[in-house]
Amino acid sequence: MTVRVRFAPSPTGLLHVGNAFIALHNWLFARKAGGTFLLRLDDTDVERSTPEFASAIERDLTWLGLGWDAIARQSDRTARYGEAAERLKKAERLYPCFEMQEELEAKRRNQLRRGLPPVYDRAALALGEAERRHLIESGHRPHWRFRLDAGMVEWNDLVRGPQHIDGASQSDPVLVRADGRYLYTLPSVVDDIDFAVTHVIRGADHITNTGTQIQLFRALDAAPPVFGHLPLLVDETGAGLSKRLGALSLDELHRSGLEALTVDAYLARIGTGDPMEPVMDLGDLLSAHDLAKFGGGSPRFDPRELAHLNARALHAMPYGAVEHRLAELGQAGIDETAWIALRGNIERLVDIGDWWQVCQGRVVPIVEDKGFAETAASLLPPGPWDDQAWATWTAAVSKATGAKGKALFRPLRLALTGRDHGPEMRNLLPLIGRDRALRRLAGEPE
Ligand code: GLU
Repeated sequence: MTVRVRFAPSPTGLLHVGNAFIALHNWLFARKAGGTFLLRLDDTDVERSTPEFASAIERDLTWLGLGWDAIARQSDRTARYGEAAERLKKAERLYPCFEMQEELEAKRRNQLRRGLPPVYDRAALALGEAERRHLIESGHRPHWRFRLDAGMVEWNDLVRGPQHIDGASQSDPVLVRADGRYLYTLPSVVDDIDFAVTHVIRGADHITNTGTQIQLFRALDAAPPVFGHLPLLVDETGAGLSKRLGALSLDELHRSGLEALTVDAYLARIGTGDPMEPVMDLGDLLSAHDLAKFGGGSPRFDPRELAHLNARALHAMPYGAVEHRLAELGQAGIDETAWIALRGNIERLVDIGDWWQVCQGRVVPIVEDKGFAETAASLLPPGPWDDQAWATWTAAVSKATGAKGKALFRPLRLALTGRDHGPEMRNLLPLIGRDRALRRLAGEPE
């Protein structure tokens, strides 16, 4: 069996980390199995779906490196949904209903008041042919419900293990609205059948749909796929992510300068118990990937942990992996030596510009003891410098002034960089160069 999975967002908004979590696990699952990853745009809601959101989805997935093997749009496939609906009508699994919203709500309230589960009472199923005809002729347009079979629907969930849902505990779901539009349930099943999807990996918010959808697969004479329901991410306070989607959109994470691979590595491990480690390639996430690693809890999305992982990734990143991006940032002057010297002090790639400025740009030197700085300047070894120059120089300064430890190093760093912290001076000094060092020790702002 060739594994085929799909990621099926609705283009009604920007993707956020919760969506990316689902997309990534589908992608990893497919790639690990040598299978296929499909992108399906669930754009049946014509009012809320936009081409701009659809292209933003493609852009964000591309940024994360989650390429797809094929793309489908539900809006292109309405005819197929119509065929399936006709088939279900013929089999008397899809039946017309005429209740108005208020009527359904009143029934629901009544049931709850009597301590009954608020399950649709199937009143419409009891209508005779003549009554139906009469309602339609007098201008009522029906919506259509799928008649669920009573009894347990069971499946072995890839993430949660054995699951069951009692068909009798659910209302017959509406598949087609009175205006003829399809709700999500039927198109999703028809697509999963037509595209031969073998594994449906999605959020735990879809568990109740799964009972219905398994019945739908069977009603359409198809074998249901394997299902896996991933836990839903929560924020640091334990609340669902939905309220903060703006800040947690992939677009926002991208703009904030995070590495796409950091987001991938973070989302691959969160909730699994695997250690958070940076990766240099998406493929590095494949061998440990296993949906069964998720426990019962909701993984906590912590932006600080993500930022920390990003910093760790950068601190270990080889020059080849960033060279072209440095050029894009207008920092083509940063060569391999400079990158290795500076990378340990950045959290995001853009921060490198700040340290590069300290090496080669303008700084305001801080010279607290002019005499000390003058002596130090007079002892600067001749260039060119390598990473031994700092040791040679500071030994000479120490000998001449008697200063040691912090009293020796701090004034030199303050004068040369205008800051009291930063990359190792041994590496910075050659990047600053002799002329600049002399000017800075003299306290001249550049
Ligand atoms: N469009 C649905 C959603 O975004 C897809 C659910 C599914 O994967 O079946 O929730």
